Amino acid sequence: TRVDNPYAGAKVYVNPDWSKNAAAEPGGSRIANQPTAVWLDRTAAINGANGKMGLRAHLDAALAQGAGVIQVVIYNLPGRDCSALASNGELGPTEIDKYKTQYIDPIAAIMGDSKYANLRIVTTVEIDSLPNLVTNTGSRPTATPQCDVMKANGNYVKGVGYALNKLGAVPNVYNYVDAGHHGWIGWDDNFAATAQILKEGATAEGSTVDKVHGFITNTANYSALKEENFKIGDTVAGKSVRESKWVDWNRYTDEVSYAQAFRNQLVTAGFKSDIGMLIDTSRNGWGGAARPAGPGPQTSVDTYVDGGRYDRRIHVGNWCNQSGAGLGERPKAAPEAGIDAYVWVKPPGESDGASKEIPNDEGKGFDRMCDPTYEGNPRNNYNKSGALPDAPLSGNWFSAQFQELMKNAHPAL
Ligand code: BGC
Repeated sequence: TRVDNPYAGAKVYVNPDWSKNAAAEPGGSRIANQPTAVWLDRTAAINGANGKMGLRAHLDAALAQGAGVIQVVIYNLPGRDCSALASNGELGPTEIDKYKTQYIDPIAAIMGDSKYANLRIVTTVEIDSLPNLVTNTGSRPTATPQCDVMKANGNYVKGVGYALNKLGAVPNVYNYVDAGHHGWIGWDDNFAATAQILKEGATAEGSTVDKVHGFITNTANYSALKEENFKIGDTVAGKSVRESKWVDWNRYTDEVSYAQAFRNQLVTAGFKSDIGMLIDTSRNGWGGAARPAGPGPQTSVDTYVDGGRYDRRIHVGNWCNQSGAGLGERPKAAPEAGIDAYVWVKPPGESDGASKEIPNDEGKGFDRMCDPTYEGNPRNNYNKSGALPDAPLSGNWFSAQFQELMKNAHPAL
């Protein structure tokens, strides 16, 4: 039987592949023994691709480390990353059968090996997929043709259902489904609708809500944990914080408040009342010299919010290799009510996408949101991308970013 919080009292597995890269960087030994997730980002990753360890090797290494928890990202849906190009995957929009038989089934078989029965295996399931079907489809200005295709063919919903059902049949697997972040799902148009589509996914292909242990927010994103210098209910010069350009009518200003509120919405939608949330804090620290020391001036609601916010992004919709970001809270169990853990799912130092076109055999495209000269699109309201220059392909080591993340860490290293 599963425990309520798999992270409670448990040592979390340190991924040797990531740890090696971190330790090789000047100053990197300060964080190289932090736990980060293993990304199964293509079928070949199950057996180990490009000199990296495969799933069995990781599980064996976890036993050898005496770890109680290992974190594995399930990330290979057909038509993956429909609203962007940087993490398009190997499977085309219709290749749901390959996803089931060549990707999920082998993973479930390995995780089900009785050798690993005492290890708590946390899966984070299909980053960015289901929320995209709400926010980037249909008549919305943010719609993309690929997301319309994935909504119409149902293969995101089916894939997530299949994954949850198969992996959730392994008694020591703890499924956490991706739930976006506050700067995406925190608006009224998106909030309840996203909980609804998550429920659809969780009850597709034979799965039930009982196969879902919880949800994860902010995966590979940069949203601050707690904005302490302004509150959603504040009013400045006669205007609500919600009317500021930065908040733009969102109901939430940070990840802790969003994760807690969205947890309640998920329970309302039919998920179990004891679900727990994870928050990816790998790159949402926003420390360093640019971190505001207190609230902004009350000249206008914009000076107040912009002067006080820790999140220094140009726009909250920016997601690629953000300039100025720092490492966030170190991984930690049960930090707040309703939150099972702060986790480092996106391994710090691994790129979100290349700043220019780089040919590759993984299906990854070139997304101009990773190009610092780009002027934006409807999903970041036509702002500059805020991306660091000279980035390699998504998932590849990006030394300059790793150095900046350490420099701007909050808490500081
Ligand atoms: C990439 C994956 C990679 C992951 C972790 C994603 O953006 O598409 O290939 O494994 O990041 O770095």
